[in-house]
Amino acid sequence: MKTTSRRDFLKLITASAGALTAGMLAPQVLSRPLPDNRHPNILIILMDAFSGSHLSLAGYPRPTTPHIDRFAEQAHVYHNHYAPANFTTPGTASLLTGTHPWTHRALHVAGVVRKDLIPRNVFNLLGDNYHRAAFSQNNYADVLLNQFTASLDDLLPPSMFGVIDPSLGDSFVSQNDHNALRRAVNDINMTRRPFTGLPTLTLIKELIVRSQIDGVSRAQKDSYPLGLPGVGGSPIAFLNENVYDGLMDLTDAMPSPFAAYFHLFSPHDPYRPRKEFIDAFKDDRYTPVRKPNHPHFSLGVSQAVMDLRRREYDEFILNVDAEFGRLHNHLQKTGIMDTSYVILMSDHGEMFERGYYGHSTEMLYEDVIRTPLIIHAPKQTQRLDAYDATSNIDLLPTLMTIAGKPIPAWAEGRVLPGFGSQDSARTIFAMDSRTNSAFTALTSGSFAVIREGLKMIRYQYPKIGVSQELYDLKNDPEELIDLAASKPATLKDLAHELDEALAKTNAPYQRKEQ
Ligand SMILES: [Zn+2]
Repeated sequence: MKTTSRRDFLKLITASAGALTAGMLAPQVLSRPLPDNRHPNILIILMDAFSGSHLSLAGYPRPTTPHIDRFAEQAHVYHNHYAPANFTTPGTASLLTGTHPWTHRALHVAGVVRKDLIPRNVFNLLGDNYHRAAFSQNNYADVLLNQFTASLDDLLPPSMFGVIDPSLGDSFVSQNDHNALRRAVNDINMTRRPFTGLPTLTLIKELIVRSQIDGVSRAQKDSYPLGLPGVGGSPIAFLNENVYDGLMDLTDAMPSPFAAYFHLFSPHDPYRPRKEFIDAFKDDRYTPVRKPNHPHFSLGVSQAVMDLRRREYDEFILNVDAEFGRLHNHLQKTGIMDTSYVILMSDHGEMFERGYYGHSTEMLYEDVIRTPLIIHAPKQTQRLDAYDATSNIDLLPTLMTIAGKPIPAWAEGRVLPGFGSQDSARTIFAMDSRTNSAFTALTSGSFAVIREGLKMIRYQYPKIGVSQELYDLKNDPEELIDLAASKPATLKDLAHELDEALAKTNAPYQRKEQ
C-alpha cells in the first residue's frame, strides 16, 4: 500500500471514526475535484449475502426494496446474475480477480488467492489513475483485500464505523504479520482449537472489546431490541445508520477519480434490524413456495422455522434498503451520481428452503447463487434491463472497459451487456469446493452449470458419489421438477461442458501430482 499523500482524506476518516465511536458524527465535507470524462469514479457497494430473488424489482412478493428499486430506475439491471460461489471467500475473490474459484483457489472459509495470482486483481489493473480505496466489514473479505494492499491507496479496517474500534492486532504486529494474524484468529474462531502465543494476546483484547460491545448493545436496546447487527466470529458490532453515514463522508472526501470497494456485512445474519422494521412483514400472508427436503444436504429445519428466518431476513433487507436510500439521496445531492458508476452487488445469496436456511451449504439452488447487480452509469436517466445470464466475474472486464484499459487474456468473465457484450448462449459456472484442497485438482464439491435457461447441479462427494440434477429455469424457476431422468441428452450435454472445464482447470495440478 502506498503511503497516501491525501492528508485531508485521512484526517477526515480518522475524525469520523473517533466521532462515531463517541456516538456523534461531525458534518465535514472536503472539496473534491471532479473526475475527467475518461475516468469517472467507480463506487462499488457490496451487500453481503443478498439474494437476488428477494428484490422487489425481481418480482419478490414482499416490498423489500423500494429504495433500491428507485435506484434501479436510472441503472442497468441484471435479472439473471450469478455469484460463482455460495459463500464470502470464493465469491469475493472471484469478483475482485475476474476468475472462477477453481482458478483463484480461495476455496475455503479462511482461504486466500493463489500467491502468484495476487497481482491479477481489479485494483492493480485499474492502476494509479484512480484513488483506490477498499473497506470490508467481513473479515474473510478483508483478508483478501489485505492480499491486494500493494494496489490500494487506502484499506480501511473492518471495525471502521463499528460501535467499538478494536484495531485488531494493529498495535503490536507489523503490516506483514497482519494477514497471518487475522487468519490465525479466524482459524481459532472456526475450529475452537487450543491456542498459544501471539493470538492469545489478540483474544484477550477481543474479550475486552466484546464486553464493551455488550455495554453499547444494552444502551441501544430501545432502537435495537434484537441486539446490534454484528459480524459473526469477530468482535465487531455496528449500527447500519452509522455505517452508511460513514460511507457518505468517505464518498465526499475521497480524491477523484476514485475506485472504491465497500463490502458491507448486512443483510448477512444475524438479522437484526432497527425496531421500526421489526415485524414489518409479520401478517402479510405471504406463503413461500414449499420445496422438498434435499436427500443429502437438508438439515431438517421445519417449514415454520424457515419461514420465520426468511421473514427476519426480509425485514433486515427492508432496513438496509432504507439506509441505501439515504446514501442514494446523498450521492444525488452531492453530484456523485453524475460523475460516477455506482454499482450495487453481493458476494452470494441466502436460502430458506429444502430443510435449510443460510448459505453454508453444499446446495447451489438459485436463491443462494443468484445475486443483485445494478449499475448506474454517470448521468444515466433510463432503466436498462438485461436478461442474459451474467456472473460476478464479469465485473473486472466491465470495469476495464469503463476505465479504457485492455482486458487481460486471463480474465474469465465477459463485458456485461450494456457495456459491450451480448451473448445469450453463454455458460455460467458456480461452485462450492470447500472440501477440496486448494493445492490439488478439484475432485470433490458442488458445481452448477447454467446455459440458455437450463441448469445442472452436480454434487460430487465421497460420502454420496456423484449425483446430478437438471432444471428448466425458464419454465420452473423454483427448481421443483428435476429433469435429470427425463432429459438425459440435455443432462449429458451440460455435464460434458463441466467435465471439459474441470479437465482444463485441473490439468496443471494433475501434472504436478504425477
Ligand atoms: Zn458473504
